[in-house]
Amino acid sequence: MSTERLYYTDSYRTTFEAAVISSTLLNGAPAAILDRTCFYPTSGGQPHDTGTLNGAAVLEVIVREADGAVLHILDRPLSAERVSGQVDWARRFDYMQHHTGQHILSQAFVRLARAETVGFHMSADSITIDLDQPDLAPETVDAAEDLANQVVTEDRPVRAWFPTGDELATLALRKVPDVEGSFRVVAVEGFDVNACGGTHVARAGEIGLIKVLRTERRGDILRVEFRCGGRALHDYRLKNALLHQLAAEMTTGFTDLPAALARLRDENKALRRDLRQAQAQALAHEAETLWAAGEQTGGARLVLAAFADRDAGELRQLVQQVISRPSTMMVCAASGAKAQLIAARSEDMALDMVTVLKRGLAVWGVERGGGRPSFAQGGGSDVSAAQAEAALRAAADYIRQMGDSH
Ligand SMILES: [Zn+2]
Repeated sequence: MSTERLYYTDSYRTTFEAAVISSTLLNGAPAAILDRTCFYPTSGGQPHDTGTLNGAAVLEVIVREADGAVLHILDRPLSAERVSGQVDWARRFDYMQHHTGQHILSQAFVRLARAETVGFHMSADSITIDLDQPDLAPETVDAAEDLANQVVTEDRPVRAWFPTGDELATLALRKVPDVEGSFRVVAVEGFDVNACGGTHVARAGEIGLIKVLRTERRGDILRVEFRCGGRALHDYRLKNALLHQLAAEMTTGFTDLPAALARLRDENKALRRDLRQAQAQALAHEAETLWAAGEQTGGARLVLAAFADRDAGELRQLVQQVISRPSTMMVCAASGAKAQLIAARSEDMALDMVTVLKRGLAVWGVERGGGRPSFAQGGGSDVSAAQAEAALRAAADYIRQMGDSH
């Protein structure tokens, strides 16, 4: 039940009439097999075509391995016995450009570096070939790109056909395929001959620019990401706009961007260092002021402080600084969406600050909190400034009471 593949002889044909041989379901989706089709099925690194059959959208096209039939996966079942097919030309041509570009680029790497293509992938977001030489120099990649574009400029004819056995023996294929019987060959005149079942342009000039975007070493292979034609232009447009936008924001020419960025990075590093120093000084000063304003109770100094929306890490640092002085206790509260309560003391004292903390948290109805006898912390709920003050009072009352009892 194999399907005649019209794209083998004419990649440019987008409309066709065909008989429906069978209608079936594939994973619950309606699928049709036709006696002939222009739709390219996903294979050989090239994604399938899209389009319509009698108005039904062709969502996917695959080859059934058992008999080589081409399955058209549709958005709704076909009712007619004959169908009119329409292939989406923009998508088809994009893959024709890239597939032909790939043949040429692969041959360019063979000629300039004896690097063979061992993998090929095309999708909507990425076009890559994998080379068997992972250490190609950037200049070699540039040279291959130049050679490929020269072939495009020369507008060499591209031919796809099924050669006879005798003719095949005279062709120097880039890679001999592991198949039995006859197979299709694609030749870029005077440059490259290779077995391929995909869709290609008729003349190299139609490919437009072939541009390598980047290379990436992956174990024993080099992955080469490239774009052709419309996609290469789109990529250039995007990057050009991005570069000009960056240059405008940095008020420099785009060739000076690396130097401008290096300056910015150094400046940023120095500023961060200065900021850390200034913050440490400010915190030390704040701790000093808070301690000086503390009250004497039972031979120790008690420091109480309330804040709004203060960073928890900074709050802990502040408390650490205050209680680094001997015979000092501190209870502080930060109101806000994630309120914090800290109860801490210097190491030369005995009062259990976890108990102090719990007294304060009880005012908020919060149980999340704990720590060491010398440093306890809790909170996490939404607490108003008034509630923060109330928690401080409850904790302080308990401390004073404990102080009096000694
Ligand atoms: Zn091909």
